[in-house]
Amino acid sequence: QVPSLNRPDLLRQACYINGRWQPAGASSISVNNPASGAVIAAVPNLGRKETEEAIAGAQAALRPWSAKTGKERAVILMKWAQLMLKHQQDLGALMTSEQGKPLAEAVGEIAYAASFLEWFAEEAKRVEGDVFQSPKAGQRLMALKQPIGVCAAITPWNFPAAMITRKAGPALAAGCTMIVKPAEQTPLTALALAVLAEEAGVPPGVLQVLTGDAREIGGALCDSDVVRKLSFTGSTEVGRILMRQCAPTIKKLSLELGGNAPFIVFADADLDAAVDGIMASKYRNTGQTCVCANRIYVHDDVYEEVLKRLTAKVQGMKTGDGFGAGVTQGPLIDGDAVKKVQEHIADAVAKGAKIVTGGKLHALGGTFFEPTIVRDVTHDMKFSCEETFGPVAPIFRFKDEQEVLAMANDTIFGLAAYFYTRDYARIWRVSEGLEYGIVGINTGIISNEVGPFGGVKQSGLGREGSKYGIDEYLELKYLCIDLG
Ligand code: ADP
Repeated sequence: QVPSLNRPDLLRQACYINGRWQPAGASSISVNNPASGAVIAAVPNLGRKETEEAIAGAQAALRPWSAKTGKERAVILMKWAQLMLKHQQDLGALMTSEQGKPLAEAVGEIAYAASFLEWFAEEAKRVEGDVFQSPKAGQRLMALKQPIGVCAAITPWNFPAAMITRKAGPALAAGCTMIVKPAEQTPLTALALAVLAEEAGVPPGVLQVLTGDAREIGGALCDSDVVRKLSFTGSTEVGRILMRQCAPTIKKLSLELGGNAPFIVFADADLDAAVDGIMASKYRNTGQTCVCANRIYVHDDVYEEVLKRLTAKVQGMKTGDGFGAGVTQGPLIDGDAVKKVQEHIADAVAKGAKIVTGGKLHALGGTFFEPTIVRDVTHDMKFSCEETFGPVAPIFRFKDEQEVLAMANDTIFGLAAYFYTRDYARIWRVSEGLEYGIVGINTGIISNEVGPFGGVKQSGLGREGSKYGIDEYLELKYLCIDLG
C-alpha cells in the first residue's frame, strides 16, 4: 500500500490533460509495489486519441506561454521546485512505493529533480542571442534563440522524478510546451509532479502527463507534425525505434540511452576511495542506473586487495523493502530485470568467472537479489557488451594503461566512465582517451544539474542539465538586415 501522505491528493489515479484530470475509464493499468508485488493504484490506459487531444492542447498553449517573459516563466518554475521540496517526503514515499528504491534515495531524488527546475528557472532569464560582424558593409547580422515548440518526453522508471524535470525544466524555461509519457511502472510520481506544477501556476496545456500504451502514445507523438521535439530516456533499443519513427517528421531528438560504464582502478589509486566509488556507482538504485559501473577493471597489483575491501562492504549492505530502516538495496523493478541479472551471471560462470559473494535471488524472495561480486571476468562474457542493470559487480583484471583504455572503449556505448588514480598526467591522458560523454575521476557520483549529462556513440544524442541543456529546446533564427 501507499503509506499515508501529508497531502493525500498527491496520489492521483488520473491523467493530466489540458489542465483537466481525467480518471481511468473502462481501461486502466495497474501500478505495483515491486517490494511486495501488491497492486497499489490504477491509472488510465490512454492511447492515440487522447494523445492527439493533448497535442492540440499543447499547441494552443504554446503561444501564450512562449510570449511570457523568461522571468515570468522562471517565477513559476521556481515555485514548482519549492513545492517539490515542501512535499519532498510525500513524493519520496510515493516513489518508493512504486519504484522500490530505499526511501532515503527516493527523497534524495526529489531534491535532485527539483534542482533541475531551479537551475532552468535561472537559465530562463539567460536565453541570449548574438550579434555578428557582417562581411559586407551596411548589413547587420544576428541570431535569435526561440522555443522549438511543442515537445514530448518519454521517461523511464529508474528515476521517476528527475528524468521528468530534467526535460520539462528546460522545455518550459525556453517557452516550449511539453507532453510527458512516464514509464508504466512509475506513473504516480509523474502525476504528483503534475499536481504541483498546476499548483505552481503552470497553465493548462503547458505540461501534460499521459499514461497508457507506450506504443500508441509514443506512435502518436512521433507521427505528429505539431510535436517538434522528442526527448527520450530509456533503452538503446527503444531509442532506435523512436529515432526511426521520428524520421518522417524530421523531429529534433534528445536521446539518453543505455550505457556500459567502465570503472578503472589503477595501482596508484587510493584504494579505500576507489572501493567507496564502486559502491556508489555500482549499487545505487540497486544497480539500476544508466551510469552504473558495469565493468570494473582493477590493476593486477591491487586486484586481490580491492576485492577483499569491496567484498567486506558489499556483505555489509542491507537488502529489503525501501521503507525498512537501514535498507540500501531495494528490489529489482520486475521479473525480467531479475532474469537478465541471472543470465549475465550464469554466462560468466559458464565461461570461467567465479562468484565471490551473492549470485542468487535473495531469501526475501520476489525480485530481491543478493548484492553480488563476480571475479575473473573477461571480455568474452555478456557483462562486457550488455548493460546488466542489477546489483552485480563484475571484476576484470588489467596490466597496463593502454590495454585498459582499449578494453574500456571496446563497446557500442559511451555514456559514463570512471577511473581512480593519483597520477595527474594519467588523469589527463585517460580522460582524453575515454570515448564517453561523462568521466568521473576519483569519484563514483557524477550527476547534478550543473554538469552536461549525455552520451556519445549509441548512448545517445544531446545533453541534459547544465548551461547547454536549454539549447536542446531552442532553435536559432538568423537575421540578416540590410540597412540600405
Ligand atoms: P527500460 O528498459 O528502462 O524499461 P525502455 O526503453 O523499455 O527502458 O522504456 C523507457 C520508456 O520508453 C518507458 O516510458 C516505456 O514505456 C517507453 N517505451 C517502451 N517502448 C516504447 C515504444 N515502442 N514506443 C514508445 N515508447 C516506448
